[in-house]
Amino acid sequence: MSGAGPASPATVRVIREIPELRRHVDAARQAGARVGFVPTMGALHDGHLSLMRRARAECELVVVSIFVNPAQFNDARDFERYPRDEARDVELAATAGVDVVFAPDAGAIYPPGFATSVSVDGVSVPLEGAYRGAEHFRGVATVVTKLFNIVAPHVAYFGQKDAQQALVIRRMVRDLDFPVTIEVCPTVRERDGLAMSSRNVRLEGSDRARALALKAGLDAAAAAVADGVRDPRNVVARATTAMRAHGVEPEYVAAVDAATLAEPETLRGETLVAIAAAVGPVRLIDNCLLDVPA
Ligand code: AMP
Repeated sequence: MSGAGPASPATVRVIREIPELRRHVDAARQAGARVGFVPTMGALHDGHLSLMRRARAECELVVVSIFVNPAQFNDARDFERYPRDEARDVELAATAGVDVVFAPDAGAIYPPGFATSVSVDGVSVPLEGAYRGAEHFRGVATVVTKLFNIVAPHVAYFGQKDAQQALVIRRMVRDLDFPVTIEVCPTVRERDGLAMSSRNVRLEGSDRARALALKAGLDAAAAAVADGVRDPRNVVARATTAMRAHGVEPEYVAAVDAATLAEPETLRGETLVAIAAAVGPVRLIDNCLLDVPA
């Protein structure tokens, strides 16, 4: 190859130690920078990159964390098999204009004798909380608290893909007065509708096609609402049928109030349709928001 290639992206600084990260962010803050933060578990894809680009557009300093948080995995095998490729992640973060990748070791985040956790009641209880256990969102809330204290961002960006997680974080930030603004960004999908997820690389053979069951379930729920169905049980039944047609049995399908996650008698207003299913060895989640007219 000769000639001018694409402009090489700015270099990303990779920081592993908490004091160094704090020094770096403090200096930028003192110089007046707005600090944007995107917490991730790595294995980056376009969904993650969309959050980083949004942060880049709105902030002078963009920090991304890459930390596969053992405390939020209810399944040890899922943790072991979680894809990890830091070198590739750092390159991708660079293409999105990220300034700093914070990639701490587990020992930096969980020092010996670690004994404190943050648990959020209410919105963490149903759906993922019921299926993965209370330790899942406790693990999420605790690590996000630590990361907020370490990075001290003005704004933190989360994905609507993990709708319940975003609700839990919003509730925690409001209840505990964290000085951070939470922005939730739309779900990025593959061309065929599959929601991007780090776990998708583990879908093999026919499982990749079967994974479209989740989007088909959401589409069927939206169609049911458009047809005038207002009983959440009937909406759930239509979604379940659509998923089974793809050879996938849902773990749960729920049509709930988007703010409280409670199931109403009759659907009305901002409604979250949330789905989880195992497709082969991979557990996937997806959701959509529907504005249900009376
Ligand atoms: P994770 O690495 O899975 O912990 O995700 C890090 C952040 O990226 C979370 O806020 C997720 O909600 C978000 N995210 C993951 N997948 C997507 C997607 N397909 N579209 C938008 N955001 C996503």
